[in-house]
Amino acid sequence: MNPVDKPGKTGALMPVEEALQRLLDMAEATPIREQDVLPLADLDGRVLAQDLISTLDLPPWPNSAMDGYVLRLSDWRGEPLPVSQRIFAGQAPQPLAAGTCARIFTGAPVPEGADCVEMQENAVLHADERVSFSEPLQAGQNIRPRGQETTVGERVLTAGTRLGPIELGLAASLGRDRLSVVRRVRVAVLSTGDELIEPGLPLGPGQIYNSNRRVLCSWLARMGCEVIDGGILPDDLEQTRARLAGLGNVDLILSTGGVSVGEADFLGIALREEGELALWKLAIKPGKPLTFGHFRGVPVIGLPGNPASTLVTFALLARPYLLRRQGVHEVTPLRFEVPVGFVWPKPGNRREYLRGRIEQGKAIIYRNQSSGVLRSAAWAEGFVEVLEGTTLAVGDRVNFIPLSEVLN
Ligand code: AMP
Ligand code: MG
Repeated sequence: MNPVDKPGKTGALMPVEEALQRLLDMAEATPIREQDVLPLADLDGRVLAQDLISTLDLPPWPNSAMDGYVLRLSDWRGEPLPVSQRIFAGQAPQPLAAGTCARIFTGAPVPEGADCVEMQENAVLHADERVSFSEPLQAGQNIRPRGQETTVGERVLTAGTRLGPIELGLAASLGRDRLSVVRRVRVAVLSTGDELIEPGLPLGPGQIYNSNRRVLCSWLARMGCEVIDGGILPDDLEQTRARLAGLGNVDLILSTGGVSVGEADFLGIALREEGELALWKLAIKPGKPLTFGHFRGVPVIGLPGNPASTLVTFALLARPYLLRRQGVHEVTPLRFEVPVGFVWPKPGNRREYLRGRIEQGKAIIYRNQSSGVLRSAAWAEGFVEVLEGTTLAVGDRVNFIPLSEVLN
């Protein structure tokens, strides 16, 4: 990487970090506090509202990590030991009789008095049914001690954790069948533009199909949001006002389009009249124009309308905002440093999120990076982050953000 970052080069553009920080601050100022208590089966993707404190030791008793034989180490002096009991998982064993061993299976409780498990592969079963051991033994071997994973009173998950299969499994392992979660965020999605029609209808002159609505509604649903699909909003002030007013009780109005410079920005006018409006010019590409405001007290985020711009600004700005509203701490996606397999000769004044893939250990990018080309993202596995003011030669390192990190 070859930074040629001169002071003032980015001009009046707002850096991505600053826009994100402002959005997160605003999210923290209006947290969603209501909680639902729901069964684990309904909680994938939801946000934990209260710390999960263990009321159990896990495992609750020492148990065997192997199929084999359990013994008291001091009883083993090289003389074969008789087998005094067989202990399967799910059974409560008798204390181990002195001078004996016991057959034991993985997950079965270690009997009182025993301190060593030897795997069956290293055990020799003699004709008289006594057992000897071929390898040296150590106290505690192959025993999972009580509480090795968790002890009573420990905080296992913190409030603000997003629940997925693993967290839900952890709650289940502690015996919890329900958890308190933050109620769903209600998000209204509006697609602005006279040129838009919905798929399924014939395409008229000058029209294009509305793709942003599908991208955002499906994505929000995956995130566990309650989606209010506001459909297409024509470029018309009266209709914009009426539609905003009719959205009812939502936590965020998320619109696309109509924020480009030079266009009659009806959303902006409506927000100025009945709320407030900030128009940001971001050092991000694709992207740049972003609206943040309020309509009658309801936060509004207006994303740029080009499909790849919508995608990138939603992933990097609106999604973290929505997660933080629900109290999620970890809102920045993982980035991996990878070498590039392409050249980037011209430094830009905006941070670029190129739609790319990893091939043979190197990041490559889709041939057409136009902000209008959604296909670039369908081809891609992630965003290749090219910082402001940098050029790249093959082998230089960049950050790669997998799409799987943000599409949830
Ligand atoms: P705008 O931000 O309204 O100036 O739109 C920028 C570009 O994105 C224009 O080419 C629009 O036609 C296109 N666009 C806006 N909204 C959508 C949408 N919902 N689906 C697909 N393309 C859109
Ligand atoms: Mg438009």
